[in-house]
Amino acid sequence: MTPRELSTRPGTVWVRQWGARWKAAAHAALGGKCGRCGFADERALQIDHVRGDGCRESRGATHGQKVSLGTYYKHVVAQADSGRYQLLCANCNWIKRVENKEHS
Ligand SMILES: [Zn+2]
Repeated sequence: MTPRELSTRPGTVWVRQWGARWKAAAHAALGGKCGRCGFADERALQIDHVRGDGCRESRGATHGQKVSLGTYYKHVVAQADSGRYQLLCANCNWIKRVENKEHS
């Protein structure tokens, strides 16, 4: 299943599955495992902004508009080669936040 196929097949079931499928596509595009420790269970993997601005964007508030998770993941797939995003497991993501003092 390529991103192109995903985006050209809307449908009732697809709408419900759309976000989940884009999430899987985004994870695959980013290597499918944690960039720090190699943990590969997608249930604990999160997409991280390398420069630490992920919190704001992942909440769906980009330019004041609500963005669905599916749209967010689609964006990640498109930007996968840019180096802006990486996949981190929950542990490494949290450790990175503490190290960078991203938590508030
Ligand atoms: Zn990790």
